[in-house]
Amino acid sequence: MTNVLVIGGAGYIGSHVVAALLDNGATVTVFDNLSTGTRENLFPTARFIQGDILDKQALSAAMTGQEAVVHLAAKKAVGESMQYPDKYAENNISGTLNVLNAMAENKVKAFVFSSSAAVYGIPQESVLDETCPVDPINFYGFTKLEIERFLTWYDRLKDIRFVSLRYFNAVGYDAAGRVKGLEKNPQNLLPIIMETAAGIRSKMAVFGNDYDTPDGTCIRDYIHVTDLADAHVRALHYLKTGGKSQILNLGTGTGHSVMDMIQKTQELIHRPISFDIAPRRPGDPAKLTAKADAAHTILGWTPRHSSLDEIILSTWRLYQK
Ligand code: UDP
Repeated sequence: MTNVLVIGGAGYIGSHVVAALLDNGATVTVFDNLSTGTRENLFPTARFIQGDILDKQALSAAMTGQEAVVHLAAKKAVGESMQYPDKYAENNISGTLNVLNAMAENKVKAFVFSSSAAVYGIPQESVLDETCPVDPINFYGFTKLEIERFLTWYDRLKDIRFVSLRYFNAVGYDAAGRVKGLEKNPQNLLPIIMETAAGIRSKMAVFGNDYDTPDGTCIRDYIHVTDLADAHVRALHYLKTGGKSQILNLGTGTGHSVMDMIQKTQELIHRPISFDIAPRRPGDPAKLTAKADAAHTILGWTPRHSSLDEIILSTWRLYQK
């Protein structure tokens, strides 16, 4: 793909996608409202438009000359989505429909979407592939699933082919240090571990230790954001070369518990991390790990940066500062 619009390109995953696209010779425009993204994550070689996906005119103007859209602008905190479903409906559903309508209007035909493992809900299998039933147990996951359903209709009716990438747990930072912005007010586990290790918070909470897992804490599949970014580049290439619409998991297939993550971080960075055991967080399934064979077969994608060492140390490098 030559001209790519990256919506949400100043965010954590988006900025890594921009880095990977620039590395692969794409001409990139970032569209971001900077609500959670930051200017520090912008690349001088990518054009930047500050705009909101609720602004249809701005979106339509940004589509001019684009061949493909990568859409990552979304609210993504599971807990918050249960408290403020209205905000999640507006931003994640209405906002994405605005993006798709602007694409249809401007004849942009290739779409890569950031979806989530949250679409599966409480898994019936311990390892999930894309044929497993979807039944989200939090509102965030519901918004992602709704968009996937819209996508199949926009493919049929508006000829927009898509790759929806169901991320498992995105973690880590660019090894070359090009992404500099830390997430503001993070809700996810690893940044909270890092903030505790760095003394930004005195203690963290482990949400539940009575799950049906070996140490009682929840198990997730942590995937390095550089590996995720690589999948976006491959997805765009796949669509450009005529590939049909796909929904693909992106994960390593290996799970780590909350306690594994805390202990491994302490071991690698030689700092104590204080925590309390807190009640379960609503909407958390005990275990989510991916089967990502389809991404391998269809996109030739394999995670290369997702060892716990690389994940933790690349993140600590930023928090240390
Ligand atoms: N978690 C935790 N303490 C925190 C943040 C997260 O114990 O301060 C747990 C959370 O309950 C879940 C896991 O860490 O079991 C991963 O949560 P995260 O929000 O990072 O990702 P999710 O899997 O919900 O998308």
